[in-house]
Amino acid sequence: MAPDAAAADVDAVVALVESTGGEAFVSRGVTGVYDPVSGREQARVSRVVIGLVGDVDQLEALNLQAMRGVAKVKRISTQHKLVSREHHPERSVVHVGGVPIGPDTVTLMAGPCAVETPTQTLAAARMAKAAGATVLRGGAFKPRTSPYAFQGLGERGLRILSDVRDEVGLPIVTEVVAVEDVAMVASYVDMLQIGTRNMQNFSLLQAVGAVGKPVLLKRGMNATIEEWLMAAEYIAQRGNLDIVLCERGIRTFETATRNTLDISAVPVVQRLSHLPVIIDPSHSGGRRDLVLPLSRAGVVAGADGLIVDVHPQPDLALCDGPQALTAGDLQELSRSVAELTALMGRRMAGHARHERRRLAG
Ligand code: PEP
Ligand code: MN
Repeated sequence: MAPDAAAADVDAVVALVESTGGEAFVSRGVTGVYDPVSGREQARVSRVVIGLVGDVDQLEALNLQAMRGVAKVKRISTQHKLVSREHHPERSVVHVGGVPIGPDTVTLMAGPCAVETPTQTLAAARMAKAAGATVLRGGAFKPRTSPYAFQGLGERGLRILSDVRDEVGLPIVTEVVAVEDVAMVASYVDMLQIGTRNMQNFSLLQAVGAVGKPVLLKRGMNATIEEWLMAAEYIAQRGNLDIVLCERGIRTFETATRNTLDISAVPVVQRLSHLPVIIDPSHSGGRRDLVLPLSRAGVVAGADGLIVDVHPQPDLALCDGPQALTAGDLQELSRSVAELTALMGRRMAGHARHERRRLAG
């Protein structure tokens, strides 16, 4: 639809398509206009896309192009339609609490694997902020391989996260693992994460698609790129195009690392889809010493951001301590990533403010 299309124009298209037995899926997204000086978006332009499914000849006969508010009618041949670049040639920007994730920027997200205590979460958030990260991560619902491992604090963890957000001023992303928790989790956080183990939990994908918050969709550790994009399509089809894809390592025959970070997925997915793609160098390698080299590789391959585990006392972490960075490690990573980001002709999202503060001492 054209940017100035009215709600009635959208309704008219949907009604006409449905009257012929077709289906119409309305997706709304926003494109922010980013101000590099403040590091924040200054304006938001909304866009509405209607995905039509039905008999193609019949749909073409409707002459939708002539309807008020319609910008363009396009036939999409790929299976993943709404998330494809065929449908949306420009690469998208997704905003998380005002922080952009997209083609012009590299966004650093950092935080503890799991929310353990208010003190630990606040300390990790301060480490993240001090290093220039602009989104805070932290798990309250942990989908652990063993049922005996720490499962997270649940809603109590979300309260801790949202208190910490108020204290340090970073938007938060957290994982949701159950359909019945989606609305509750969404009420606390700025972005919902779908973990690798749930990438093909289709009812969960539909639920996060309908709740109206940006989604971080991790690649299933056994999923092909095609399956990953189809999972994103489930979210988009429920009306949410604010999706960020995260390559977090896949299962291969290699046992030296926990999983194998598929660097080639970054440019491959960016060619197929308009959605931003970030990498998780922590969960892929599972080892602290690999986080810096994998982050560098990701940025140079064109990733739109990184999501990194940090912990004030990695040896005491209840989850994934061996991959957690210390404050010093994260500072080093941030400096290195900032240099490579500039080399790639991009800027760190929200980093202008951070750099000014740092230079001002
Ligand atoms: C996480 O990011 O906390 C996590 C559990 O990651 P993944 O789903 O990629 O294993
Ligand atoms: Mn983890």
